[in-house]
Amino acid sequence: MIRGGNSATTVTKVPRASSWQPATVVSVREETHRVKTIQFAISNWPGHVAGQHADVRLTAEDGYRAERSYSIASPPQMSAVELTVDRLEDGEVSPFLTDQLQPGDTIQLRGPIGGHFIWSPSERGSPLLLLGGGSGIVPLMCMLRHRRLSGSAVPAALLYSARTRADVIFHDELMDLARGDTTFALRITLTRDSAPGWSGGVGRIGLPAVESMLNDLGGVADSFVCGYTGFVEAASTLLVKAGQPAGAIRTERFGAT
Ligand SMILES: Cc1cc2nc3c(=O)[nH]c(=O)nc-3n(C[C@H](O)[C@H](O)[C@H](O)COP(=O)(O)OP(=O)(O)OC[C@H]3O[C@@H](n4cnc5c(N)ncnc54)[C@H](O)[C@@H]3O)c2cc1C
Repeated sequence: MIRGGNSATTVTKVPRASSWQPATVVSVREETHRVKTIQFAISNWPGHVAGQHADVRLTAEDGYRAERSYSIASPPQMSAVELTVDRLEDGEVSPFLTDQLQPGDTIQLRGPIGGHFIWSPSERGSPLLLLGGGSGIVPLMCMLRHRRLSGSAVPAALLYSARTRADVIFHDELMDLARGDTTFALRITLTRDSAPGWSGGVGRIGLPAVESMLNDLGGVADSFVCGYTGFVEAASTLLVKAGQPAGAIRTERFGAT
């Protein structure tokens, strides 16, 4: 994952995934009307790098098992592990995680997983361009939290597409980040409607917005795109049209929805 001839480039140590182990719910926090952040205490967590994910496994009384992947929302600096889950009404696992889990409950979890869709301020000096759709914001938020807590001066920009204002995950934290950091640019765009007083974008993300954010970052950036498949494909195409080399674009697809 290391590119470029920058002599300051160093290799990030990527923690190896643990085997399945118990993860105990410490707290459940409501982020939006359908999204919750669940904080877990895990005794043998090996640490993680921003962008990695974990697998969770649920086992029914009859032995039926379901496994799903969730990006890690909490920054590497935090010892507890937080997953931020969007409840899909007709889904199998996400309604259980968001509606049923209570502090003190235990599920099986393994991680961290992933060695490509990761970012660490120590290994690259390039600006960071993040494009997220819906719950695809989660690993990008982990990167932004990591960037802030590590005091990184790498310029960063986030283009975040959500359905409505009520669906914007981490809204207040993102606004605070943008207000307090002149090297971070935030653009949120709503695809379904705009709220009264909404000053962000409306409609799907388009080439002018991507070009403008890229220009503000100096024309070249390490780009991370995350969300459901349609969003990732559209956003990656826009990045290429805006002049980003395909090799500088990393993607994480959450599935087909
Ligand atoms: C690396 C990675 C990281 C992820 N990170 C996150 C994250 O941070 N937050 C997050 O919320 N999600 C994340 N996801 C998505 C997550 O793994 C689940 O896919 C999501 O929570 C839905 O799971 P579910 O069991 O609730 O829904 P599922 O039961 O898997 O159903 C998902 C959708 O598919 C449809 N569907 C299911 N079965 C069929 C079928 N047979 N035919 C047609 N349609 C069907 C359902 O209607 C539903 O809308 C991530 C995925 C990956 C791969």
